Amino acid sequence: MTVCTRFAPSPNGPLHLGHAYAAIVAHDLARERGGRFLLRIEDIDGVRSRPELAAAFRADLQWLGLSWDGETAQSGHLARYAAAGERLKAMGLLYPCHCTRAEIAAAAREMGPDGPVYPGTCRGRHVDPAAGDAAWRLDVARAMALTGPLQWTDALAGVQQARPDLFGDVVILRKEAPASYHLAATVDDAADGVTLVTRGMDLFAATHIHRLLQALLGLPVPQWHHHLLLVDEQGRKLAKRRGSPSLADRREAGEDGAALAAALRACDFPAGISLGEGVG
Ligand code: GLU
Repeated sequence: MTVCTRFAPSPNGPLHLGHAYAAIVAHDLARERGGRFLLRIEDIDGVRSRPELAAAFRADLQWLGLSWDGETAQSGHLARYAAAGERLKAMGLLYPCHCTRAEIAAAAREMGPDGPVYPGTCRGRHVDPAAGDAAWRLDVARAMALTGPLQWTDALAGVQQARPDLFGDVVILRKEAPASYHLAATVDDAADGVTLVTRGMDLFAATHIHRLLQALLGLPVPQWHHHLLLVDEQGRKLAKRRGSPSLADRREAGEDGAALAAALRACDFPAGISLGEGVG
């Protein structure tokens, strides 16, 4: 089977060195095996999303010397996510929830990979989904009872036992956006024929949920490759707001993109930057 990888940036801000590294990892893993590399713009993040940034993303990737074999944007696939959501609803696995972030933070009893674990307030309640905007949550215990134990394989970390329960009942259909990241990414990876999902270690735990969604929706199961993240001297993920220059800034300043890509491949990082877990 030909390998297919993807780089899936969210146009919430400009790309920086960490994105360049992620794109190179995905690109090279496909190219060195004669496979396909796709670009997916994850532009359904409500008001945070600035789809016009996609043009700069393309220019950044070209500047780095990367080529891709196809491009999609999540905003073009809303019907896909809605259909998957309906299917989960029909299976009796989603329930509506009106809880606010503050209510959840106040009632939560434990922390999960994504922050306070939703304490299940609306599960089993009669919540009118039409009364104001509702989010739809996955009844994870019920879903896991249906699928039984699941595993997934990371190319670097090996076989993992799926632990979607660590997250509690995650949001699948959002109030202010058409679908959650978990649903949209899972449905798209299957629809796009992605066989090797490469992304940063910060999304390692998210794969537990994605594996569960694949089992529920009858989707093919890819392999994963979670790479280390570029971090600053404090071990924090790079971010423009912390002074990490964007790729567009570097490009416009006349820096040589191919030379930068070669340096990143050789792990020859700019001063103060290194590879670390960097989930903060
Ligand atoms: N859109 C996500 C991000 O920019 C990446 C999602 C993924 O690779 O699965 O962090």
